[in-house]
Amino acid sequence: MSETIFSKIIRKEIPADIVYEDDLVLAFRDVQPQAPVHILVIPKKPIESIDQATDSDAALLGHLLLTIKRVAAQEGLEQGYRVVINTGEDGGQTVFHLHLHLLGKRSMTWPPG
Ligand code: AMP
Repeated sequence: MSETIFSKIIRKEIPADIVYEDDLVLAFRDVQPQAPVHILVIPKKPIESIDQATDSDAALLGHLLLTIKRVAAQEGLEQGYRVVINTGEDGGQTVFHLHLHLLGKRSMTWPPG
């Protein structure tokens, strides 16, 4: 896949407000927050979207979800939160490096736009 701004964040070439990091994943605050808490959780491995993930990524995908849970607890989201994975053009994806949005500290509506 081609390079994205998230690759630069992983390599610390551009600044980000990082809230969690380990060998496999990185979590940082979205620059255009859509909720009082809006964090992106990404794999360090470059995967374009969930549609490009393979069976060999199963453990990594599980780790991304468990990181969501960890960061949600860290951010005090006991009242609940929403996890979003925009995928492809119709899904509204704008950065083509897989990322999970963690949104919280406000009441969400359904259906999403
Ligand atoms: P999506 O539309 O699902 O592809 O989401 C991409 C998200 O990345 C958007 O919510 C952007 O606000 C966010 N974003 C883009 N550039 C940066 C950046 N440098 N640091 C943090 N978030 C970013």
